[in-house]
Amino acid sequence: MQETIEKQNLENELYPIIGLEIHVQLNTKSKLLCSCANEYNPENPNCNICPFCTGQPGALPLLNKEAVKKAILFGQTVGSTIPSKTRWDRKNYFYPDLPTGYQISQYDNPIVEHGGISFYIEDKQNGSFTESYVELTRAHLETDAAKLIHLGGKTMVDFNRSGSPLVEIVTEPCITSASQAMAFVSELQTLVRTLGISEGDMDKGQMRFDCNLSLRNKEEFENGKLPKYRTETKNINSIRSLGRAIEYEIIRQTALLKSGETPIQETRGWKDDLNKSVSQRSKEDAMDYRYFPEPDLQILEILDTDLLGFSLIPKTPQTLRQEYTDKGLSVQITNILLDNKEIKSDFDILVTTLELEGDEGLVKCKPLANLLTGYILPILKTQDLHETGLLISHSQILDLNDMLINGSLTGQNINKLLSLLPSAINIEELAKSANLIVVSDKVELEKIVDEVIKKNEKVANEFKEGKIQVIGFLIGQCMKESKGQGNPQLFSDIIKAKLI
Ligand SMILES: [Zn+2]
Repeated sequence: MQETIEKQNLENELYPIIGLEIHVQLNTKSKLLCSCANEYNPENPNCNICPFCTGQPGALPLLNKEAVKKAILFGQTVGSTIPSKTRWDRKNYFYPDLPTGYQISQYDNPIVEHGGISFYIEDKQNGSFTESYVELTRAHLETDAAKLIHLGGKTMVDFNRSGSPLVEIVTEPCITSASQAMAFVSELQTLVRTLGISEGDMDKGQMRFDCNLSLRNKEEFENGKLPKYRTETKNINSIRSLGRAIEYEIIRQTALLKSGETPIQETRGWKDDLNKSVSQRSKEDAMDYRYFPEPDLQILEILDTDLLGFSLIPKTPQTLRQEYTDKGLSVQITNILLDNKEIKSDFDILVTTLELEGDEGLVKCKPLANLLTGYILPILKTQDLHETGLLISHSQILDLNDMLINGSLTGQNINKLLSLLPSAINIEELAKSANLIVVSDKVELEKIVDEVIKKNEKVANEFKEGKIQVIGFLIGQCMKESKGQGNPQLFSDIIKAKLI
């Protein structure tokens, strides 16, 4: 779909240019400017509130140091400049869930300036990856609004979210397709999770996107100019919706431009259920918000000594990806590890053990990653066992990995084995007692092959006469006879030896 759109646009000489604004909710203990708990608690509305975050007159803010540290950590990780001074501003607008009539944000002195993020775009059709880079304009801290709840014909306000710390990350207009935008925000989600600054859970509104988009003509494209108009689509709450909103807007603007009209500068709201965006209002400029310095907060000075405190910056997904691919893992498996911190930490610990074994241990890293991502992760996801306790110990994982490598256990039987696994048991003994070990005893297998050939004389003769594809049927019968425990490769070898 995306490729078709890009191709059509090239034919029509229209080139999408996209800039994103991403709101990321920081996972601090308390809110940005008051000591109320910063927690997602929809079952218990208005339980984390105080005079400040409900906008009572005279209530004063107190800046949360942890939120500042987390925003700086983000900036340092993506190669941004952290200015020595940063200021707070009031952004004035009316909204029913904003009782003060303004949001405390940062206008011309954001806490993070410039920087950028490298990532990979996956071509789903052939499984290949292309490297890409998105430049950041800035990132600033601001308070979140409350939340309107529409229920039974009434609208209510839940202030639990009011004043939660957001870091708004703004990209340069440098993205050119839906697939690039989706891969970028997916990387950003992995990054904030890896840094431990946000849970990045979109179902809980912890990452939300606004998308600025216009289509350049050939001349604008060649001269690197931006069109005179752009639209902003707001309220996008998932990566999939971001892709759909971009595709929708490209089609809508292409139709307008082809009919000789220029799309109007406006803010549009994404309606996920309708799979379309609707016009909300003509796009406001910064001056419409009447920004002015927040009188109740001082200019924040960031000293070099403060920044030194961040010398232990965690590894970024990009660094980790490089380290994992150096161990022979594919980008795909690497991405699964990075997106699932439970198994990532298991992998990291186990790799340290394997590294102690030297070269012999290192070759086990790739199968280990496959075991964790392919077998153990799906079980963790479906049974939610990581919440209730450890499914499998680290030494059991290593035993299982060895059994897979030496062929004594098939992939098929791993799931059966894992479902039987109580903790603290010898995994090999368990596999044996449950008859899940692959039978590689040639004498045993020959007996089964003889039996199958006897029962299926006609098919065996066909094989002898050269109809070699029937071997699949014969192996299948042998597997059935052995209750799934025979080694299929050995069955194949024995059948060939007997019939050719
Ligand atoms: Zn509060």
